[in-house]
Amino acid sequence: MYDLVVIGSGPGGYIASIRAAQLGMKVACVERYPTFGGTCLNVGCIPSKALLDSSERYVEARDHLGDHGISVGDVTFDVEKMQARKRQVVKSGTQGIEYLFKKNDIDGIQGWGTIVDTETVRVSDDDGEETQVLKTKKILIATGSKPISLPGIELDKENIVDSTWALEFEEVPEHLVVIGAGVIGLELGSVWNRLGAKVTVLEYLPEIFGGRMDSQVAKLATRILKKQGLDFVMEAQVTGAAVSDGKVTTTYKHDGEEKSIESDKLLVGVGRRPFTDNLGLENIGLETNDRGFIEVDEHYKTSIDGVYAIGDVIPGPMLAHLAEHEGVVCVERMNGVAGHVNYDAVPDVVYTHPEIASVGKTEAELKEAGIDYKVGKFPYKANGRARAIGETEGFAKILADAKTDRILGAHIIGAQAGDLIAELGVATEFHGSAEDIARSSHAHPTLAEIVKEAALDVDDRMLNL
Ligand code: FAD
Ligand code: NAD
Repeated sequence: MYDLVVIGSGPGGYIASIRAAQLGMKVACVERYPTFGGTCLNVGCIPSKALLDSSERYVEARDHLGDHGISVGDVTFDVEKMQARKRQVVKSGTQGIEYLFKKNDIDGIQGWGTIVDTETVRVSDDDGEETQVLKTKKILIATGSKPISLPGIELDKENIVDSTWALEFEEVPEHLVVIGAGVIGLELGSVWNRLGAKVTVLEYLPEIFGGRMDSQVAKLATRILKKQGLDFVMEAQVTGAAVSDGKVTTTYKHDGEEKSIESDKLLVGVGRRPFTDNLGLENIGLETNDRGFIEVDEHYKTSIDGVYAIGDVIPGPMLAHLAEHEGVVCVERMNGVAGHVNYDAVPDVVYTHPEIASVGKTEAELKEAGIDYKVGKFPYKANGRARAIGETEGFAKILADAKTDRILGAHIIGAQAGDLIAELGVATEFHGSAEDIARSSHAHPTLAEIVKEAALDVDDRMLNL
């Protein structure tokens, strides 16, 4: 009898398993794929960042090393080697989880997990043959999400693909059309654009990132990405896509006209859906909401006693670090430990170049909520380190409560934004003020000084501009 069976070994499930084992629970983690790590390690965060880094190094060597007086001659690349390196990076991560499971005495079990009742999880192979039956006191659903497509667009893994297959191209497409100027579209669009593909992004809304991002950041990001070579067709309503002779024709309505565009590959990046196929929710009477998510309370308990859920399969942002955090808090609360997720302090990072990072509220959200706020903003180009490394595009912006000075939101576009935002996440978690950041010593010369100057600007006292 297990104390806990976790279904799914993504960042939510595997981290929850480890924390549960640390708290003394006997844990099994069931994963339907041959490797552990879920979307994030196998087909998401890690392989995409490996390719983003390889393609960024190529552009750096080709276009920017000359600025430093370094000549490297003709710079070429080998996609096959890049892909092999990516696979190696993924492998080291997934094997790392096997090691962590052993170290923490967790039974990592390969197979589909189907809930039979609140104390039983059936494990079966891909043909549906039962391989094991696990008895358990509690069940944690961490089954994650899957990409969605649009009506009339069928993914074929060859010409019309989702993110999983866009990470696997063995050749650079001549022309890649992307539907959706979201995180996936812009990260993977950047990879293939850097390697020489013409990339056209069709987006339904007038602003990139589904209009969720700080508007000034979204505008600058669009300008920078266009300069890098990405083409955007905004307010394009895609109506269909068909493949003929290895070419994809995507049709869309734009400016009141029916238009079409031809490409070698079409990447559909219009979002993901919670994944609960084959999970047996009906066996325990657990219903999903109208968008397919499993609703939970503040303890990550579902409506069924003893059954919990975390990560992409529950409502909220689909982020690996959030799934982890929810996993930790969920099992801590099962064990009477006071875990807590502050959803206003969860950073969100887009790994384009430059990076885009945010935490907390946007100006639009604060205005809508009628909250009075002050803005502090500082540009990269006024920072010594940014100039020294040739990364002068971008800015950091801090939004603080007009009366209390408490940090309500922070938005950064620029080099290393994903690392710089961590400080603001911590400050938000501690209910910190802009003054707290402004009075803290930041090493010189670092990009972190941009954050400090933005905090000083909240009180109109920037020092270097
Ligand atoms: P998942 O990682 O989806 O894991 C769920 C696991 O459950 C899967 O392995 C699945 O096979 C398994 N499973 C499902 N049903 C069953 C069953 N019945 N039995 C057994 N196993 C089952 N997020 C970030 O924060 N940063 C990033 O940089 C980032 N980059 C991304 C890039 C791409 C291309 C994609 C697609 C996503 C990216 N994400 C990123 C999102 C991130 O991957 C997800 O938010 C995260 O993986 C969610 O974790 P999870 O544990 O909830 O689910
Ligand atoms: P997304 O929600 O980020 O973006 C989807 C985009 O597609 C939006 O801009 C939306 O307006 C647009 N869109 C929707 N329907 C459309 C249509 N019919 N025609 C044209 N455009 C349309 O979704 P995604 O990029 O697919 O990513 C899925 C999830 O994966 C996200 O929730 C994200 O959190 C996660 N992810 C995170 C990272 C990261 O943290 N760096 C990276 C990749 C993915």
